[in-house]
Amino acid sequence: MTVSSPEDSSQKLIDQFGRAVDYIRLSITDRCDFRCQYCMGEDMTFLPRDEVLSLEECARLVRIFVRLGVRKVRITGGEPLVRKNAMWLFDEIGHLQGLDELVLTTNGSQLGELAQPLKAAGVKRINISIDSLKPERFRQITRTGRLEQVLAGLEASIHAGFEGIKINTVLMRGINDDEAVDLVRFAIDKHIDISFIEEMPLGEVNHNRNNTQVSNTDTLKLLQSKFVLTPSAETTGGPAKYWRVADTQTKIGFISPHSHNFCESCNRVRITCKGELYLCLGQEDKIELMPLLRAHPDDDTPIILAIQDSMRIKPKGHDFDLMRAQPAVVRFMSHTGG
Ligand code: SAM
Ligand code: SF4
Repeated sequence: MTVSSPEDSSQKLIDQFGRAVDYIRLSITDRCDFRCQYCMGEDMTFLPRDEVLSLEECARLVRIFVRLGVRKVRITGGEPLVRKNAMWLFDEIGHLQGLDELVLTTNGSQLGELAQPLKAAGVKRINISIDSLKPERFRQITRTGRLEQVLAGLEASIHAGFEGIKINTVLMRGINDDEAVDLVRFAIDKHIDISFIEEMPLGEVNHNRNNTQVSNTDTLKLLQSKFVLTPSAETTGGPAKYWRVADTQTKIGFISPHSHNFCESCNRVRITCKGELYLCLGQEDKIELMPLLRAHPDDDTPIILAIQDSMRIKPKGHDFDLMRAQPAVVRFMSHTGG
């Protein structure tokens, strides 16, 4: 097979169900300065350095995917901003021709220093994870995080002038589910958006996640009793539904990964920090890109062909099943990046 020019539409990534893949989520590290209860164990063993993609390999992959029609890249982790020299990567890919949106998901701990350089590098939008506005509780959920530091990072981001800032919140029954209204009020106050993510059955096998799960249907009902919400037609091709809060600049997103409604329009794939290309968050189908990157340092063709070929195995939908005793997918979110 010949590999043609970037403009050639035959190179676009179209899967077996006709869905165009134009969005990648790239995890650049499995490490993190926090240990959120729903994401990591208390004692984590992280990958040795040589089993993680180098930043050069990350940049190379992004360039390849953009050549294959990808228009949006989300950098995630682990905590992407604790990776040494992470800024080098943002500077390298931020202004790539053909890339419409470079976005970031972060716990916010490093944004006090990095918000401005990230904006300058070309990052358009930032998601910051905040599960509680109570310092003690925040510490309990994240095990090591300091709310004050994250809020300073949020302020620095507002000041830096990103096109969009969104809070990501995982509500957990009996832990922080009494803060939904306060978190929305906070977002309204700051003129930013907020999304509620349902806790997913990922991570440690022996953690019974059903106990703390809060359904977005219940959260929506609660918020509708406090705010005037109008459904928004906006879609990202992902598992989020959006509502506008009347007379504010704030949108509320509900990310319900257990619902199958979004699989038909799925436009994304995920790359772990080990270079595994996962075709679906809830399935095990993947290909290994690291060996190809390392075996062909000067020739992108084998990597392009493997990525194109992977479109044949992108599953129709995911398979989360909360009734099972064990999580459907036992994979730490810090590997796949959420
Ligand atoms: N460290 C960054 C952060 O916390 O935003 C980026 C990586 S983190 C894995 C990405 C997102 O996944 C965060 O918003 C986090 O709340 C979410 N997340 C992690 N584990 C989760 C789980 N089991 N269920 C639902 N969301 C989860
Ligand atoms: Fe770290 Fe993000 Fe996972 Fe929390 S959710 S432990 S901040 S990677």
